[in-house]
Amino acid sequence: MISGKTLTEYARLVIKIGVNLQKGQGLEIACPVEKSQVAQALTEAAYEFGAKIVRIRWESENINRINYLNASAEDLKEIPKWFVDSKNYLVEKGFCYVAVSADDPSAYKDVPPEKIAVVAKARAKALKKFSDNVMANGIRWCVVSVPTLAWAKQVFPNSEDPEKELSNAIEKAMRLDKKNPLNVWEEHIRTLDSRAQYLNNQRFEYLVFKNSKGTNLKVGLCDDHTWTSAKERAKDGVEFVANMPTEEVFTAPHRLKADGVLFSSMPLCENGQIVDDFTITFKKGKIVDFSAKKGYETLKHLIETDEGTKRLGEVALIGKSSPIAKSGILFYNTLFDENASCHLAIGKAYPTTVKNGDKLTIKELKEKGLNDSAEHIDFMIGTKDLSVTGIKKDGSETVIFKNGEWSI
Ligand code: ZN
Ligand code: ZN
Repeated sequence: MISGKTLTEYARLVIKIGVNLQKGQGLEIACPVEKSQVAQALTEAAYEFGAKIVRIRWESENINRINYLNASAEDLKEIPKWFVDSKNYLVEKGFCYVAVSADDPSAYKDVPPEKIAVVAKARAKALKKFSDNVMANGIRWCVVSVPTLAWAKQVFPNSEDPEKELSNAIEKAMRLDKKNPLNVWEEHIRTLDSRAQYLNNQRFEYLVFKNSKGTNLKVGLCDDHTWTSAKERAKDGVEFVANMPTEEVFTAPHRLKADGVLFSSMPLCENGQIVDDFTITFKKGKIVDFSAKKGYETLKHLIETDEGTKRLGEVALIGKSSPIAKSGILFYNTLFDENASCHLAIGKAYPTTVKNGDKLTIKELKEKGLNDSAEHIDFMIGTKDLSVTGIKKDGSETVIFKNGEWSI
């Protein structure tokens, strides 16, 4: 378990670099109930940086699972108004929001996928206003992780002390093993920013992904797309980092311009269920076929959530020399695994990945090619031999990625 001085530094990173809490601001923390010491450290750090109030929302996968197994889908999909209001309150009152995600990747493996899909859909629909605000940076937010025993056992099934090993891996990924992590993070973000800057200057119209697994996918980019690193600017003008760790540079694909096939390179873990070894075929931006050796039903429900989950909402580039990729650990957790590999997402695109996107209406964003949905689901396609070629409007080609690594 991350503890002592390291936990204090961890909490400071999340509050200062992550949500970048400002003096006099409120904070809400969502945290697994068994990790109360992490919530406590975050609360202390928040007051150290001048928070006016810290509120906590406890989560419990065990109780969720018992609910899934015993309550009817009808009752489960009823999302109370007070819950929706309490989320919108955060935006109205200018709170920061930290989510500590420490899911057991197989938590709901004995729950029927239809039941989970119905509840996830109802929840996403009820919270659409809040998630639209989150994705348009109407609030400063950050997702981080801490190890739990159930999760650690899945990552290190043969270890004598899996939680310790997962702690070590997370500390490395968070650069907490370095001296003065706050400075190291600022330097790291500058490197990512310079890559985003390079891509913004190039104005590619298409990217072509190819590897020996069989991926051969041409992805069009939105008109006026902007590449961004994890450091983003919220609507209030203050910068923040929405995911920690983060190694990605990402932008918005055009919702009508994806053609070809992709092969997954890592499992996709969503809602306590695993999809693995899957392929997705696109035609004119839309998914026209898919297959999965594991978790086909789950993948089907994800893709069929709404019209937007049949199209792409993110394209992200990560080199194979990122610390997470180099560790070779499969975390079964998107927050980590997506930072080991180039990835795509189906569902809603970030309005912030289009020029002045936070000031445009959903309709205006759509005209530029931006995808909308109640969901946003990342999955990995990067391999050691992946190549990515950028194609400009004049047809000229630039190799951006060769053998899974940046070549710019
Ligand atoms: Zn991403
Ligand atoms: Zn994403």
